[in-house]
Amino acid sequence: MSLSISRIVQALEPSATIAMATKAKELKARGETVYDLSLGEPDFDTPLHIRQAALEAMEAGHTHYTQSGGLPELRKAIVEAYQATHGLVYAPTQVVVSNGAKHSLHNVFTVLLNPGDEVIIPAPYWVSYAELVKLTGAVPVIVQTRQEDDFRLTPEALRAAITAKTKVLLLCSPSNPTGTMYSPDDLGALADVVLEKKLTVVADEIYERLVYGGSRFASFPTVRPGLQDRCVVVNGVSKTYAMTGWRIGWAMAPANVAKAMDDLQSQETSCPCSVSQYASLAALKGPQECVAEMLSAFAKRRDFVQQRISDIPGLSCANMTGAFYAFINISEHLGRKYGNRQIDTSTEWCLELLAQQKVGMVMGSAFGTEGYARASFATSMANLEAAFDRIEAFVK
Ligand code: PMP
Ligand code: GLU
Repeated sequence: MSLSISRIVQALEPSATIAMATKAKELKARGETVYDLSLGEPDFDTPLHIRQAALEAMEAGHTHYTQSGGLPELRKAIVEAYQATHGLVYAPTQVVVSNGAKHSLHNVFTVLLNPGDEVIIPAPYWVSYAELVKLTGAVPVIVQTRQEDDFRLTPEALRAAITAKTKVLLLCSPSNPTGTMYSPDDLGALADVVLEKKLTVVADEIYERLVYGGSRFASFPTVRPGLQDRCVVVNGVSKTYAMTGWRIGWAMAPANVAKAMDDLQSQETSCPCSVSQYASLAALKGPQECVAEMLSAFAKRRDFVQQRISDIPGLSCANMTGAFYAFINISEHLGRKYGNRQIDTSTEWCLELLAQQKVGMVMGSAFGTEGYARASFATSMANLEAAFDRIEAFVK
């Protein structure tokens, strides 16, 4: 006999990024050498001074529940960082710290959305957005963007997707999975529609510090006056400080939304992990050279990956300006045989690449766009060199 699962969770797709990474790990556990480009997490260790701060916090007995929305000093440090970098002014009580930005997104959608509300999500989108929206009973409205436009949503496409039920526009810049970014002017043009149509915007800015080639990142609420009151900004320490396992992210929101998220979290999880909060405080307040060092390593890998993709016949990708992903157009290599196997979809392509060449990538269909596969370059140069040799051999 098996117990029945709720309808809403039965309809949930598990995370494809995590599923592909699990497959790669299973192969590794069987003794295979695997070149895993599936998961988007920095391969660097968390910088030493941050780990030391966590040890000190434990030694000092900071091992209890904290305020449900996070330590006041951490919320203050987050606010100060945004003010220093972007000139945005928030009160510390407008920040809610959670167990990772994924948890923050879950909180944001839960407090903003009623069943039937529509959320506009430009595709390709990060795998978890549509599923987290569906958990609330709201409806993801997917708007395809194009490689020719660097996968940016245009104001015309946004306007065309708006209905009487539209509540939220979700923006992710720099983008997972496309590695592209909106310019301040692009954001301004979208903001004009947002203000006119009175939409709420959830701006996922978790890759804010991972920007290449002199491109300028703009935080969405800064591009037009009045936007901050219609916007929730999501960010965290996972990507910037190589702290994925510590599980700290946050949302900055208008006061009533922040209060609602704090109340929700007090019932959901009491508070984020205390020791991780002290580590995150050290990350934000401590020396920032580690961020620059990791960025310079990512930039070299980005250049290498961009070049390899353009050198392999039939593959292409947009010019990557942020985050650490290449969203590779594989459409010319679908609809053909690889050995004895006919491969028609990005899922079949990624599974066959893993089986034949032991290279892990994530199928474009999981990000809402068929004909592509995502490679994360948050891995060593040696791994990338071997992986791209194998991808080249595979498509030949
Ligand atoms: N947003 C985006 C776009 C991401 O790629 C990730 C990576 N997992 C997250 C949010 C969540 O990050 P975390 O939960 O590790 O803070
Ligand atoms: N954000 C990363 C990725 O897209 C980590 C895995 C996840 O949370 O989806 O691969």
